[in-house]
Amino acid sequence: MSQSLVIAIDGPAGTGKSSVARGLAKALDADYLDTGAMYRIVTLSVLRSDIDLDDTAAIAAAVSDVDLAVGHDPDTDRSYLAGEDVSAEIRGDAVTKAVSAVSAVPEVRVRLVELQRELASAPGNVVVEGRDIGTVVLPDADVKIFLTASAEERARRRHDQNVAAGLPSDYETVLADVRRRDHLDSTRAVSPLRAADDAVVVDTSEMNQSEVITFLTELVAQKVGVGQ
Ligand code: C5P
Repeated sequence: MSQSLVIAIDGPAGTGKSSVARGLAKALDADYLDTGAMYRIVTLSVLRSDIDLDDTAAIAAAVSDVDLAVGHDPDTDRSYLAGEDVSAEIRGDAVTKAVSAVSAVPEVRVRLVELQRELASAPGNVVVEGRDIGTVVLPDADVKIFLTASAEERARRRHDQNVAAGLPSDYETVLADVRRRDHLDSTRAVSPLRAADDAVVVDTSEMNQSEVITFLTELVAQKVGVGQ
């Protein structure tokens, strides 16, 4: 493929965003950048340093020293902190609970946005997934997609995943947590979660993963004339 395509995929948790972004990257023979993983690595570093999550000055001071790296292959999901593979640990409860607080610190966003722009500018196609990619990180992306699904549907998916993984789960509690995170992510002062004006908003409530990937591959093909 001669063109270099940049695709931004944003949206809240529970929309199937990560699986869909990976699937689309594979279909387009593109690299994949998971920006959420980058916020999770910084959060793990903050937790390991015993920094209080309310101490935004300490978090801001610590972020410049975090040595982080993420893979760009859509088939694997590797994340590194100072060379250590922390792929599993950053998905754990402790990081998931703390990541909203750490990602709301402006200095954290400045450092990671800079790094994300650098990584996305490498030659070749790239699918970049996050919360603020179309609005802040890559406002000139070739295609911007914003995935949504109702809070109830997202909570149902998370609850089903927990049950399948053998974890204790209560639907009403999961739903309350989905609503809490939506509120935090969409009302924070810096880079709140919202669709870019020129994003295509796709509601995945009634679609399965492969239907969404097919839909998006066709959308990209229509918009830029590749991918099919
Ligand atoms: O996508 P994931 O759930 O792994 O992201 C974890 C958290 O990182 C989100 O809940 C959000 O607070 C933060 N995030 C962000 N901006 C991004 C990606 C993730 O603030 N571009």
